[in-house]
Amino acid sequence: MSERHVDTAAVHAGRLVIPQNRASSPPLFQASSYEFDDLADIAAIYAGERPGAVYGRYGGPNANHFEAALLELEGAPAAVGASAGMAAIHAALATNVAAGDAIVATREVYGGTYALLENDYRGRGIDVAYVDQSDLAAVRASLAETKARVLYVEALTNPLVHVADLPALAEAAHAAGAVLVVDATFATPALIRPFELGADLVLHSVGKYLGGHGDVGAGVLAGRADAIALARAYLVRTGASMPHFEAWLALRGLRTLALRMERHSSNAGAVAAYLATAPLVGAVYHPSLTAHPQHDLATRLYPRGTGGIVAFDLARGDAQDVDRFLRGLETIAIVHSLGEVATTISYPAVSSHRPLPPHARRALGVGDATLRISVGIEHPRDIIADLTRAFEGLGQPLRA
Ligand code: PLP
Repeated sequence: MSERHVDTAAVHAGRLVIPQNRASSPPLFQASSYEFDDLADIAAIYAGERPGAVYGRYGGPNANHFEAALLELEGAPAAVGASAGMAAIHAALATNVAAGDAIVATREVYGGTYALLENDYRGRGIDVAYVDQSDLAAVRASLAETKARVLYVEALTNPLVHVADLPALAEAAHAAGAVLVVDATFATPALIRPFELGADLVLHSVGKYLGGHGDVGAGVLAGRADAIALARAYLVRTGASMPHFEAWLALRGLRTLALRMERHSSNAGAVAAYLATAPLVGAVYHPSLTAHPQHDLATRLYPRGTGGIVAFDLARGDAQDVDRFLRGLETIAIVHSLGEVATTISYPAVSSHRPLPPHARRALGVGDATLRISVGIEHPRDIIADLTRAFEGLGQPLRA
């Protein structure tokens, strides 16, 4: 070969040698496009007859790897990654409703989902009704009244950790001719597998527990193969596929999911028990407490625990006390996300429930002094010590 000009060599020099023996952990395929040998190769790869990739937006090996792992964890036939939890939610809804249809959603829906439903569905000729997902009669009535195509619920709600009775909700949805879409972000397949309980589609914000380390922005949707094929095509068309590096990080996080969820759950139980004894605390919201309205349901549906979310009301109940309490914490940071290995805290009135008018937020049971803790995997003694320090900073010694 004649010597190439440096301008050409800069573009073509060197050769990537992919080792013939397998890497023991997945390599990252950050390439956004792939080469073909000839027209037959293109035809075979597009037809799925030869494993291959085409272009980043159509998905890549790392996203496919993560999807394959997730579908096995969910016990579902298919899964598709997305650029965010919101992209997964939008793909699930958009492929199941058209103008003139209706969606019935839980009134405790995540704020971003509420904004999507109000701006991009109701605004485009789709009727949206909200119900208390724990009131099955109300759910059935709303499905019948609206003739909804979709019932949208959250497995464990934010921040009060209400538990969706998934088998009963699936039965209600199917009896009314609707599909059941479940946001299981707070629960994860380590604790519950909604598809096996009758859900048609299950989705997650992957940046929470699945990723687990606060460094992923992605979503995922699992369910029936035909429904996932429609969602995948929609995600490709709208440019909302799962990015390669996010998929790589997400899979790494997934490998420790079961261990982390076990620790998140037991630590949350310990924190809830501690808060229940603290004099500066009003109500404590956690399914492990017998006072929780769905304690029995949680015990039945979640034998391995309900994850790391615990909420409580500061007994004094104003924003100034909340601020003083938060400033008294040393290791627990104020973070609006959740599901990281570190314990974090949020004040829903100014975070997840910020878009809601105060009266609507209070009507959901989320008060002016309600705090949400995302309990991490540290030693529970140290988490409780930090909380105790902050309570003591409020000026009244604790019993515990
Ligand atoms: N669902 C729940 C329960 C969430 O908490 C969130 C984000 O906080 C989402 C969906 C949206 O996910 P993402 O931020 O990945 O788009």
